Amino acid sequence: NADVAKNRAKLDGRGSVWFFDQQLHDELLHQHRLVDRLERAMDSEELSLHYQPQVAVGSGRIENLEALLRWQPADGAPVSPAEFIPLAERSDLIHRLGDWVMETACHQRAQWRDAGRAIERIDINFSGRQMSRSDVFQRFEDCLARYDLGPRHIGLELTENVLIEADDRVLEGLQRLHHLGFRIAIDDFGTGYSSLSYLKHFPVTALKIDRTFVRDAPDQSEDRAIMEAAIFIGHRLGLEVVAEGVENLEQFTLIREMRCDLVQGFYFFHPMPAPELERVLDGLLVAHQDGSC
Ligand code: C2E
Ligand code: MG
Ligand code: MG
Ligand code: MG
Repeated sequence: NADVAKNRAKLDGRGSVWFFDQQLHDELLHQHRLVDRLERAMDSEELSLHYQPQVAVGSGRIENLEALLRWQPADGAPVSPAEFIPLAERSDLIHRLGDWVMETACHQRAQWRDAGRAIERIDINFSGRQMSRSDVFQRFEDCLARYDLGPRHIGLELTENVLIEADDRVLEGLQRLHHLGFRIAIDDFGTGYSSLSYLKHFPVTALKIDRTFVRDAPDQSEDRAIMEAAIFIGHRLGLEVVAEGVENLEQFTLIREMRCDLVQGFYFFHPMPAPELERVLDGLLVAHQDGSC
């Protein structure tokens, strides 16, 4: 491939072309290797789910958890899902990853249920390519059934763009889940290329306001205005509204004044492995019984 790039650059006879091709080539090679390593990671212990609590603004209680995929290669630095999910989406690997996430989240939720833990729901992220598999919803329902779980236990997060690109089959699948009582959230709300009219058609139960608005809200009146409008529309449509990426008290104070329902972010909890989350929950319980909290 390097030779091809070099030859093409030679034919063009321009240094800048060679430079561009070399960069492109390096990037493609890097991506290719990453997908290769990820494929092998699937059969190892390198993948895990972390869980980030969502806190009710009114009561301060932990309501739901979002499951977030983590990849810690045995021989190197962790790779962010923001990097490897889009790569996995370009191949069938995304379907295997999606199955793995579903299975792992269901297994964990069933374990917590069996241990009598007061945990509500685990929400899992679905990407666009995952929806292209014709039996995606059947697999979801089958997975839950294997663990004797229902709509109270597992929810879904989809981005606006996934919803807009949804065809009739996907729409019907979501409608069925919605009808069964599953919670379906629109992730990163406000960042997709969408008109608001799509909100009329989609069987969703929650909006998650993208963290870029939350981040800039204290300093930018435009971001505050967009957040207020999103919360207003969400509530008028009977949806639950979640603010993502709350990192400090200033942001939280604003969000509380705006009457957002739930908050998620580093100010409250980072995403954590299951054992760590259990320790946190145990700590909260003890604090509550002591009356010290
Ligand atoms: P997302 O679904 O919007 O997830 C929220 C992201 O915000 C997570 O990044 C989370 O760690 C991060 N976050 C939470 N609180 C804060 C905060 O206060 N400040 C900041 N700066 N960030 C915060 P993460 O885990 O790196 O995931 C990135 C994206 O990768 C996710 O965005 C989601 O689109 C995708 N992803 C993660 N896990 C999965 C998965 O299991 N399946 C699929 N299809 N996509 C996933
Ligand atoms: Mg999400
Ligand atoms: Mg999000
Ligand atoms: Mg995001």
